[in-house]
Amino acid sequence: MNTMLAGRLRLDTRTFAVEEVPIPVPGPGEVLVEVRAAGVCLSDVHLIDGSLSPFFLTDAVTEAGAVTLGHEVAGVVHTLGPDVKGGWTPGQRVVLQAGEACGDCGGCLRRMTCHRPLTRGLDYDGGWAQYTIAREGTLLPIPDELPFDQAAIIPDAVSTPYAAIVGTGAVRPAQAVGIWGAGGLGAHAVRLARMVGAAPIIA
Ligand SMILES: [Zn+2]
Ligand SMILES: [Zn+2]
Repeated sequence: MNTMLAGRLRLDTRTFAVEEVPIPVPGPGEVLVEVRAAGVCLSDVHLIDGSLSPFFLTDAVTEAGAVTLGHEVAGVVHTLGPDVKGGWTPGQRVVLQAGEACGDCGGCLRRMTCHRPLTRGLDYDGGWAQYTIAREGTLLPIPDELPFDQAAIIPDAVSTPYAAIVGTGAVRPAQAVGIWGAGGLGAHAVRLARMVGAAPIIA
């Protein structure tokens, strides 16, 4: 059996360890990604210290009693599972969405907002590993000039403040913006607020 190293959190004891585990095999519509960079989010620290728990555990994680952390992941396509529709090719550079719709709740069945969205690295195995599985719909190609370590943090540290500023807050030029906490997300919020023309920006 081919194995890999993965950073795994035992959910009962909240003990974290790098373990040797089988390299996962992509199922229908899934892609095996060779991880090149993965971010460490404060949520990961909170998962390890027990102040945060997974929201909608998948059966696989429940059975294993442990989850591979990491919801900020970039890498290259390694192996395609059966019935992958997109034109993905091995070696293609990709970033992975930080989660996915569950696919079987009332919202998903009506093709509306998922009621129990699954978070990568919390509810199912994430990218603190040499390889990780992603549904093909959660892959996005990235340009050659974008380094993997910068691409990896887009799915949370950049996209979360982007949604707050551009979506929820709908900030317009010359509007004042206050940012509480210039940490991993807040630092990007300052840059994003500047890009949309906010002024002044108080952080
Ligand atoms: Zn995060
Ligand atoms: Zn759903």
